[in-house]
Amino acid sequence: MNHLDTLSQTLLMGPGPSCVPDPVYAALSRYTIGHLDPRFISIMDEIKRRLQLLMETENRLTIPISGTGSAGMETCFVNLIEPGDPVLVLKNGVFGMRMEDLAGRLGAAVDVLEFEWGTAVEPEAVKKKLQEKSYKIVAVVHAETSTGVMNPVDKIGEMAAASNALFLVDSVTSLGGLPVKTDDWKIDAIYSGTQKCLSCPPGLAPISFSAKAIETLKARKTKVPNWYLDLTMIINYWDGDTRAYHHTAPVNMLYGLYAALGVILEEGKEQVFARHRQTHDYLVEGLEKLGLAMAVSPESRLPMLNAVTIPEGTEDARIRQQLLKKYDIEIGAGLGPLAGKIWRVGLMGHTAREKNVDRLLQALQEIL
Ligand SMILES: *Cc1c(COP(=O)(O)O)cnc(C)c1O
Repeated sequence: MNHLDTLSQTLLMGPGPSCVPDPVYAALSRYTIGHLDPRFISIMDEIKRRLQLLMETENRLTIPISGTGSAGMETCFVNLIEPGDPVLVLKNGVFGMRMEDLAGRLGAAVDVLEFEWGTAVEPEAVKKKLQEKSYKIVAVVHAETSTGVMNPVDKIGEMAAASNALFLVDSVTSLGGLPVKTDDWKIDAIYSGTQKCLSCPPGLAPISFSAKAIETLKARKTKVPNWYLDLTMIINYWDGDTRAYHHTAPVNMLYGLYAALGVILEEGKEQVFARHRQTHDYLVEGLEKLGLAMAVSPESRLPMLNAVTIPEGTEDARIRQQLLKKYDIEIGAGLGPLAGKIWRVGLMGHTAREKNVDRLLQALQEIL
């Protein structure tokens, strides 16, 4: 049997991957060429330009890393941290916890400021912490996919810059669904992933480094401890005249990213963000009509990741399985302390359409 024949066009309404639009599928199946072919170099240059537009940055080092969002995270931390560096992680969910774990593995002296999961990071508390102690890096997740909460990255960026720390941001879920103003928000290192609001299959992690972050990288006393993600070498493939081989670029994945960014920029960034917001409002209204409640208060809710409180006495796993088996719709379960307590309904990128919300609401009505 050919296992690929069992696949269907599942409606992906979980925390990623999201639905992929046809132009991206078409791009993925174009001819593979060499990763040093001048035609491929031109595609790379255009990907960098498109990422700069979407990430609202003039940072020259704005490139996709080979690997999923977590490889982007690893790239940012591993290039900037040396053993003993003081790092402050603002944590209010699973992905903040992952930052804490990673920084610790690199030998950083990690302090964590934790906020109740399901609520946003409070800038006042961050300000107080930064007055008490100075840090090399302040790290936060923009869109906490585990809880559906948006953190006030703009305010935290001001504070981090005032304290002279590097500001490191996870935009895996926010990029392509919410404005991400890398330069205005004084972000020094940012990473994302392709399978959330960029609506490309998983496999690449866009990142961007500010001039200040590059200075920090160049001033390292020790080598970057990860060979594959060492930006001092990767830069030579993505920038400059020599274009030296470092590792073979995932050529067809990069065609996919090229097309996915093209789809977003063609619709228009602002239109895309507005569509996420409108589809989110439409979903919330529909869920509330079914008697379901949102788990996050309105001012901190993400448009692309909706945490829905599972009603008392409802069998979490059975309902998700039924949605998938009978209706071909995938939604996400709660993670960590929120397992069994919430469903995570994604409206990411190409998935964020009212007709998809209608399909989910209809199915939920029948099942519940
Ligand atoms: C999905 C996600 C990640 C991890 O990305 P992978 O592609 O699964 O490696 C990191 N941070 C956030 C906020 C995410 O939503």
